[in-house]
Amino acid sequence: MELQNFIGGKWTSNEELETIPVVNPANNEQLATVPLSTKQQVAKAVAAAKKAQRSWARIPAPKRADYLYEIGHKLKEKKEYLAQVLTKEMGKVIEEARGEVQEGIDMAFYMAGEGRRLFGETTPSELADKFAMSVRAPIGVVGLITPWNFPIAIATWKSFPALVAGNTFVWKPATETPMMAYEMAKIFEEVGLPDGVANVVFGAGSTVGTELIEHPDVKVISFTGSTETGSKIAELGGRHLKKVSLEMGGKNAVIVMEDADLQLAVEGIVWSAFGTAGQRCTACSRVIVHKDVKNKLQQMLVEEIRKLTIGDGLDEDNKIGPVINGAALEKINHYVQVGKQEGATLLIGGKSLTSPPYNKGFYFEPTVFTNVKNDMIIAQEEIFGPVLSIIEVADLEEAIEVNNSVKFGLSSSIFSRDVNKIFKAQRDLDTGIVYVNAGTTGAEIHLPFGGTKGTGNGHRDSGQAALDVYTEWKSIYVDYSGKLQRAQIDTGN
Ligand code: NAD
Repeated sequence: MELQNFIGGKWTSNEELETIPVVNPANNEQLATVPLSTKQQVAKAVAAAKKAQRSWARIPAPKRADYLYEIGHKLKEKKEYLAQVLTKEMGKVIEEARGEVQEGIDMAFYMAGEGRRLFGETTPSELADKFAMSVRAPIGVVGLITPWNFPIAIATWKSFPALVAGNTFVWKPATETPMMAYEMAKIFEEVGLPDGVANVVFGAGSTVGTELIEHPDVKVISFTGSTETGSKIAELGGRHLKKVSLEMGGKNAVIVMEDADLQLAVEGIVWSAFGTAGQRCTACSRVIVHKDVKNKLQQMLVEEIRKLTIGDGLDEDNKIGPVINGAALEKINHYVQVGKQEGATLLIGGKSLTSPPYNKGFYFEPTVFTNVKNDMIIAQEEIFGPVLSIIEVADLEEAIEVNNSVKFGLSSSIFSRDVNKIFKAQRDLDTGIVYVNAGTTGAEIHLPFGGTKGTGNGHRDSGQAALDVYTEWKSIYVDYSGKLQRAQIDTGN
């Protein structure tokens, strides 16, 4: 299958473009080829999006939302097919892939509902016979840059609020997972979105991504990916006075207090640490455990991990699929060596799986280090694989301090039965998402999603908060007094 760019409502030829293979990380089989587009394709896509934007914005929001309802129905119809493609190109197990597509469906219907809200504010004027209100106005052409770990959900978090608010977009998906973007473009075409409203351009971050950020007609960049890339985008976007929304890395922790339901905590930790082979931005990579229950928790954790089956995500029995590619395997392996050198104790795992049936794909054992000190590299940096560090603490205060000591601030969790500890924790944990008696993953689409510190720059995906990224506030004053009334001066003060 040869994937093509979708620009101005047309599939464009890959002639003269270099193409690269898209491979299944479970077995290294080629699934498709994808073009590495150049500046020219970006320019065409931005021009198409710009041309379409004004008339798109003039369609009443409830009518724009009708397209989102249609998209939601298409996603629902194709859910199983899309989940299968997603597992093949990204590797996550099929149950999780279905969950990811469901997230897109939920977002379509949720944002379609916004078409009849998009609330602004009315407020009294300080002057007589004068009306004051503020409304959300679309911004224009939006550039979307997305990662490979949630190739469909993250795109829906960004593109659906952008569309309902009256913007058009150019989307650059990750080169590792372009098939989901191709499938989404097919859906945009099938529901008859006007030409140029939704455009997909495949290619590298350094060319297509950079060009999107630098292009003067792209007014907003919405990015999800690593903190390293996000910092570069912030710098470049800042220079071009772009509105830049960044959702970046995490180093998420589960805190287990001495009064916790340990079985529940173990289940939450295993799901958050090893689901998606640890490649979720919200993946749990640290367990911060009270000293009184550390040994017991470790023992239960290892027992639970031994039950996990690893393999091709299309097999319903498998709980952990491959990691995305060879480079990811190398990076994970590197961190495991670092952990050993730093003096952490390897409790289980620690190796990539290289013998059949794993030898063709990219598999890493679920790995747990214990006796990890908070200043070790493995306790501070995002590994983005199935590697967990256990850090012992003496009390809640220390647990919160350890949780907050990393440069990231996406998600955290506490297991406890003590309501006082729980309320103190939800107040003092400095992450954008806090879970109580649940793991660090599992966000719902109608709440804001994002993080503090090195995870974000103050914006949020999902929820109504996402609309803030894709709209400008416009304040409108209507004076119906028939005379000049001067604010602050004619108020009689
Ligand atoms: P990445 O930063 O390598 O790439 C993300 C996207 O940016 C890709 O489309 C890539 O091609 C593009 N890109 C790369 N260099 C670029 C440049 N110089 N200019 C413009 N675009 C560029 O990230 P990844 O490896 O695809 O994804 C994993 C990372 O994403 C992890 O750090 C993870 O925590 C993070 N993530 C964060 C969230 C969140 O919401 N906070 C969600 C999912 C993933």
